[in-house]
Amino acid sequence: MSDRRLEVDRVSKRYGDTVALDSMAFDVRAGEIFGFVGSNGAGKTTTMRIILGVLAADAGEVRWDGAPVTLETRSRIGYMPEERGLYPRMKVGEQLEYLARLHGLTKPDAAAAARSWAERLGVEGRFGDEVQKLSLGNQQRVQLAAALVHHPEILVLDEPFSGLDPVAVDVMSEVLKEKCAEGTPVIFSSHQLELVERLCDRVGIVRAGSMVACDTVDALRAEGGEELVVHAPQARDGWAAGIPGVTVRGEEAGRTVLALEDGADDQAVLAAALATGPVREFARRRSSLTELFRHVVSTEATEAKQSGTGEHGK
Ligand code: ATP
Repeated sequence: MSDRRLEVDRVSKRYGDTVALDSMAFDVRAGEIFGFVGSNGAGKTTTMRIILGVLAADAGEVRWDGAPVTLETRSRIGYMPEERGLYPRMKVGEQLEYLARLHGLTKPDAAAAARSWAERLGVEGRFGDEVQKLSLGNQQRVQLAAALVHHPEILVLDEPFSGLDPVAVDVMSEVLKEKCAEGTPVIFSSHQLELVERLCDRVGIVRAGSMVACDTVDALRAEGGEELVVHAPQARDGWAAGIPGVTVRGEEAGRTVLALEDGADDQAVLAAALATGPVREFARRRSSLTELFRHVVSTEATEAKQSGTGEHGK
């Protein structure tokens, strides 16, 4: 893996009284997929727009390979904006070729790249159709093709998976893995945490405009501690309440997820579960990214309440 990296260095941005970004900092290395997660209004889109130069930062800097990102560098970024930016009345093929030409490809190269990405993303059959006639999911495939058609050095994708069917999710995931294997840094935002967990080398969790956790999925999950999953079909809600060092994270249809503090006695949990009737499942596992995220977000909610801040609306 090369050591080129995209660095977001203490970037801040305000909209009037709203602090959208407060010293946002992280980096994405060449050949890595970086998942950017955070609740609505946390600052993901603002960060991506600043990387792209669509928006100027109030403070801080974005660097690629050690040098500040310029207009020229930005032309080598493949960007998928949150508000999709295709021309609805233009034909799929023409649009992809046009975008490739805008980025400096020759006519034959642009035509070949348009055709090959349309094929790769499964929309070659719609090559001659106007974008507006495609389903939203297929428009999104075209949008990804548009981000890729000029052979970008860096990929920045704002919620590329939202609204896709499972087959399209697989196609998109494969393409991102392929680009990453070729040495392209890939950064994407998503609210689909299971997908993020599956796909990303590292994940950054954003809260109120700052990075609050940024590490490999395994390291983040280790931070979230261990969980115990207990399936005791005859147990009533609340059966595990009061066992020392144990917190109930979720309870549904006799299946309970418990968080264990260090040193908590799992055998006391098993005894309590058996006291309710048969136990069909009893397993320890690491916290999922979803659990860790919930924890971070609930901290955010509490802090926002205490300080009287929060999202001010767009
Ligand atoms: P989501 O997951 O909902 O897309 P996000 O993490 O992408 O959210 P941003 O869109 O970056 O969040 O918004 C960060 C903050 O900046 C929010 O408080 C938002 O209301 C505010 N904001 C964003 N764009 C504008 C704007 N054009 N004018 C004023 N405030 C804005």
